[in-house]
Amino acid sequence: MADNHNEGSRFLQSVHQYFDNAARYSGLSSGILAQIKVCNSVYKVSFPVEIDGKIEVIEGIRVQHSHHKLPSKGGIRFSMQVDEDEVKALATLMTFKCAVVDVPFGGAKGGVKINPRTSSVKTLEKVTRRYAAELIKKNLIGPGMDVPAPDYGTGSREMAWIADTYQALKYGETNALGCVTGKPVGQGGIRGRAEATGLGVYFGIREALADSELLKGKNLSGNTMQGKRIIVQGLGNVGYNAAYFCQQDGAVIIGIAEREGGIYNADGIDVEDAFKHRSETGSILNYKNCRNIENSAELLETECDILIPAALENQINQENAGRIKAKIVAEGANGPVTKGAEEILLANGIVVIPDLYLNAGGVTVSYFEWLKNLSNVRFGRMGKRAEEASYRRLVNAIESSSGKSLSAQEKAMLTQGADEVSLVRSGLEDTMINAYHEIREIMHQKGISDMRTAAFLTAIEKIGVSYEALGIFP
Ligand code: NAD
Repeated sequence: MADNHNEGSRFLQSVHQYFDNAARYSGLSSGILAQIKVCNSVYKVSFPVEIDGKIEVIEGIRVQHSHHKLPSKGGIRFSMQVDEDEVKALATLMTFKCAVVDVPFGGAKGGVKINPRTSSVKTLEKVTRRYAAELIKKNLIGPGMDVPAPDYGTGSREMAWIADTYQALKYGETNALGCVTGKPVGQGGIRGRAEATGLGVYFGIREALADSELLKGKNLSGNTMQGKRIIVQGLGNVGYNAAYFCQQDGAVIIGIAEREGGIYNADGIDVEDAFKHRSETGSILNYKNCRNIENSAELLETECDILIPAALENQINQENAGRIKAKIVAEGANGPVTKGAEEILLANGIVVIPDLYLNAGGVTVSYFEWLKNLSNVRFGRMGKRAEEASYRRLVNAIESSSGKSLSAQEKAMLTQGADEVSLVRSGLEDTMINAYHEIREIMHQKGISDMRTAAFLTAIEKIGVSYEALGIFP
């Protein structure tokens, strides 16, 4: 635990260093900057839960880093390693991540000290509901207050329990489902959330590939995904979806690194099929036509165009950074590159697309889920059929004026109205494109050479504007 505390403190320190580094470029006063940096509130709670006939005391924490926009937003992790400084660091990053992608929330994060792997479902339900009740008692959760989401050790099941507890204790509140995101679709969740982070990673990389100025001299031809050789670490939610969407757009996935080992094939690996192989055999190893790599960390150092670390933090550190041969390191995970390692990568001319921006697709679609819950209607429900009728009239008019008729398939494609998943994906795409160009714009304006400093700075400036507009109460 002591080790984890030290790690948590180092993590918080490094987030503060990134902040200070970017804040130098802002014109904001030192007082406002200090307020933007600090965690606004930390709530620690201990509560009893009866487990197998015995009373156990469970510790929980909720950190709300910033109230410049409400609600605040951030995941809840279940782990015995939950540490206050680590939760503070993660809450801080959430504030900046939301600001980068214009999600109008402050940042937050929570944790409960419990091992989700060794606890029964019944125990997990009791602990989740009691933790939610503790937050409700103090007004620390609610659609306009603070909206948790899943993180390590929690998922849609826990979010459904939280929503149900909230609804039970706030009976009749119309917007109650907006108290938490990441819920199952049948319980107020949203279609398109599962793949959102990986899809956002794909949109971000695609934008960078189209940016000839950023990639000048990198010998990455064509400005598109076509033929780009990608290695991904972690074939989980983020890694799988990022690799899948890049492959769909013409990239060649040449390596996949997992915890049990890695696989390599210079001619490309079918991501969907390799995922199926891992689910069926329990290992990524021995996938057809691939070379097994026993120590999957070696794949990080293998020659490729784009490396997507999408598993854990600190994977590229001062020890291995000098051996990274990718032209772009695209941070799918949170904190996969340490601060020291980033300096080495940048000095070696490697472009780093920072987590703060690149993996913000998840929180973006969580924002859409919250909007859906507040409006109490599925996106697309009101307009889809009307849109289709109008497209049909247009297609009919074109057919009659041109004298040519389209095939049934062409007609179906042209007259399709937007449903929830297509609206979510288009909102996500727009968000990732806009945020990319804001970061690049600030790099030009302020003469900043790395994307992480620029991403922090865009966030700091947006939050600064909020504080200036709000004024200081009283
Ligand atoms: P996940 O658990 O679905 O996937 C992680 C994958 O990494 C697993 O397949 C696991 O086996 C693999 N892995 C573990 N140790 C490894 C190792 N040493 N080498 C190679 N692979 C290893 O988790 P996820 O949701 O995909 O999250 C991955 C990262 O992305 C985390 O840092 C998380 O905080 C971050 N993130 C996730 C989301 C999201 O929406 N899921 C959003 C933002 C950021």
